[in-house]
Amino acid sequence: MNEADALRAAALLESAGLRPVAQAREASLLLLNTCVVRQQAEDKAYGRLRHVAELKQHNPDCVVALMGCLVGRIPQEHAALRERFPDVDLFLPPSDLEPLQQFLREQGVAILSDASAEGCLPPPLPDSQTGRTVVAHVPIVLGCSHACTYCVIPYRRGGETSRPSTDILAEVTALADRGVREVILLGQIVDRYGLDRPGEILLPDLLRRVAAIPGIARVRFLTSHPRWVTDDLIAAVATTPKLCPYFEVPVQAGSDAILQAMRRGYSVADYETLIDKIRAAIPDAGLSTDIIVGFPGETDAQFEATLALMARLDPDMIRIAKYSPRPLTWSARHLPDDIPETEKERRRVALEVALRQRLTRKHAPCTGQTVEILVERIEKNGRRYGRTPDYKPVFVDDSDAQPGDVIRARITWAGPFSFIAEPAVVPTAAWSLDIEY
Ligand code: SAH
Repeated sequence: MNEADALRAAALLESAGLRPVAQAREASLLLLNTCVVRQQAEDKAYGRLRHVAELKQHNPDCVVALMGCLVGRIPQEHAALRERFPDVDLFLPPSDLEPLQQFLREQGVAILSDASAEGCLPPPLPDSQTGRTVVAHVPIVLGCSHACTYCVIPYRRGGETSRPSTDILAEVTALADRGVREVILLGQIVDRYGLDRPGEILLPDLLRRVAAIPGIARVRFLTSHPRWVTDDLIAAVATTPKLCPYFEVPVQAGSDAILQAMRRGYSVADYETLIDKIRAAIPDAGLSTDIIVGFPGETDAQFEATLALMARLDPDMIRIAKYSPRPLTWSARHLPDDIPETEKERRRVALEVALRQRLTRKHAPCTGQTVEILVERIEKNGRRYGRTPDYKPVFVDDSDAQPGDVIRARITWAGPFSFIAEPAVVPTAAWSLDIEY
């Protein structure tokens, strides 16, 4: 979501005539996008802000814009931020470029998107990216109204708001015209798309329509919430070839007591039933999940249950986070952060080691198999980089494919987190012989 927000900001700046520079100290405008989902991310933002303060000493005319969840959507907080970060000139809430647009207008800068019919959204991709952007992220649901007890996002990004499907379809059409081949539709609970807009189409129909846009080869969506994945969504993925067989469904923990304390709204059994249903309908579906280790009160046995769940589910990726208390969240206000850092780290490493071992075994039989790859870019060493429909990263040797091409490749090496492959020879000669006879 942040990447999508940052590219939109870059596109707006470019439409106002600004151009990217190689070094921050050469910039006349610096925009810093921020994440505060965990303390670590927030600390990184503070580190960058200290760097910005140094830059500003050398170049006092440089305009500094701070964007994202560190800024948040609560106007009363902005005065405190101004006091705290005197070097920052502009504050932009997440997914909200209006303050930057206003600033540009005040400077007398003409903005291309002001003339557009919608009048509000800049082009989704900066010009400087055109020609090499094969995959684009498109936010479709902004904010979140769920109340997971650990999560700060509703407090920073505001309540759930779906964008009109007409805007989304127009945006994807424009992206396709600029050479984008894959779109990833984004929402905190992407499955809830449209539910907050009376009369709007829902996610399965939106996906079908996006997949039908000429030029688009692949469509993905994330992140799903286990309670909101519908049969129709599974059916849409199962029956629409361009909808990639890949589900990102965070489970967060393998213990019902912890799930309840997180207020996730499902049990471990509910989650397993859902994954069984997805796999029954789409046998080759990839599965990615998120886990938080060290939630307040998480016992050794509860953590072991998470490890056991991962062994049973056999997901293709796990994003593992150590719990950190976030301001205003229910868990930060009511539950002690009582799992020591060393124990959180031990649990994180245990999950990661198990994941690596499991994926090494799971992927071993992939060697020799042929997969389909959408080439995203050419690496410095000439290898083509792309992903399989189920989101596995592949590096292809000796290929002359260009970014945007869909190619077939034979896997020559299968690691836990990526594959190496060679171009597959497509056997056309055999049937042309048949035709001749
Ligand atoms: N709605 C999105 C949430 C994005 S936050 C989703 O379901 O993916 C991404 C992940 O960060 C969450 O899934 C969770 O695993 C993790 N996370 C969120 N808040 C956290 C916290 N306070 N401490 C540690 N990890 C957290």
